[in-house]
Amino acid sequence: MPLPSYQVRLLSNEAITDKVRKLVFEFIEPNEFTYKPGQFVSFVLPNDEEKPLKRSYSIANLEKNSDGTHYLEIVIAYVEGGRATEIFFNAKTGSEFEVTGPFGLLTLLEELPKRVFLIGTGTGVAPYRSMLNQLADYPNTEFHILFGAQFLHDMFYLDDFYQAAKAENVFFYPCVSREELAPENCTRGYVQDALLTLAPCAETDMAYLCGNPNMVDDVFNVLKEQNFGVKQVKREKYVFSKF
Ligand SMILES: Cc1cc2nc3c(=O)[nH]c(=O)nc-3n(C[C@H](O)[C@H](O)[C@H](O)COP(=O)(O)OP(=O)(O)OC[C@H]3O[C@@H](n4cnc5c(N)ncnc54)[C@H](O)[C@@H]3O)c2cc1C
Repeated sequence: MPLPSYQVRLLSNEAITDKVRKLVFEFIEPNEFTYKPGQFVSFVLPNDEEKPLKRSYSIANLEKNSDGTHYLEIVIAYVEGGRATEIFFNAKTGSEFEVTGPFGLLTLLEELPKRVFLIGTGTGVAPYRSMLNQLADYPNTEFHILFGAQFLHDMFYLDDFYQAAKAENVFFYPCVSREELAPENCTRGYVQDALLTLAPCAETDMAYLCGNPNMVDDVFNVLKEQNFGVKQVKREKYVFSKF
C-alpha cells in the first residue's frame, strides 16, 4: 500500500531556544490530517543525490481533536552539519514540503495502569505535549512528565506542561543536568535520577521514553533493574538517518 502523502506549507518558523526551532505547517493537499498524539511524520526533503532525504519529526500539536487537523507543529533541534537542519533552520514561510505519515506506536493505550511516566529529553518531549489534552480522559491514572535538558534555557513548551500539571492527575518535573544550582521548581540531574526518586514500581507503573537514543537506553536499563518488562516501557528513539 502506498504511504499516505501530504503537501504542507510552512506558516511560521520560530526560534524557541538557542538550538530549537518550532515550525508550523498547514496541510494543503489533502488538507486534513488525522493522527494519534504521540505519533510522528516523515518529511521527504529534496536532495542533490538521487534519493530524497527522509527525516522524521514528532507531531507536537496541542489540540483537543486530532481527527482531521489542518495544522502540523514540530520542533527541531540544531544538528551541526545536518542536512535537514540546514533546510529547516533556513526555510522561509510559504515553502512547501512533502510529508508522509502518521507513524509510530508511542501513543497512550486505552487502558493505563495507576502511574505512567512520560520521559523525554530535548525535542523528545514533543509527543507528550501532543498528549496533554488526552490526559483528562484517564482520571484514574497519574501522569508524571519528566523533561530533561542541560539548562533551563534549553527547555520549551513549559507553560503548556505547567498548565497541564494543574490537573490532579498530572505532575511535571523539569530536570536540568548542567545548572550549578537547580532553578526554582527544577530538579538538578538526569531524568533517570528524578525517576528513581519517584520509586518506579513494575506492579503499578508503565513508562514512555522518547528522544536521544542513549537516554532511552539508560532509562530503560534503570527500569529493567526495577523489574519492568519490555511491554511496560514504550520507546521512541530519535536515531540518526543513515543517508
Ligand atoms: C521517530 C523519530 C522521530 C524524530 N523526531 C524528532 C523531533 O521531533 N525533533 C528533532 O529535532 N529530531 C527528531 N528526530 C531526528 C531527526 O529525524 C533527524 O535525525 C535530525 O533532525 C538530524 O537530521 P539532519 O538531516 O539535520 O542531520 P544528518 O544530516 O542526518 O546528520 C549530520 C551528522 O550529525 C550526526 N547527527 C544526526 N543527528 C544528531 C543528533 N541528534 N545529535 C548528534 N549528532 C547527530 C549524524 O550522525 C551525522 O554525522 C526524530 C527521529 C526519529 C527516528
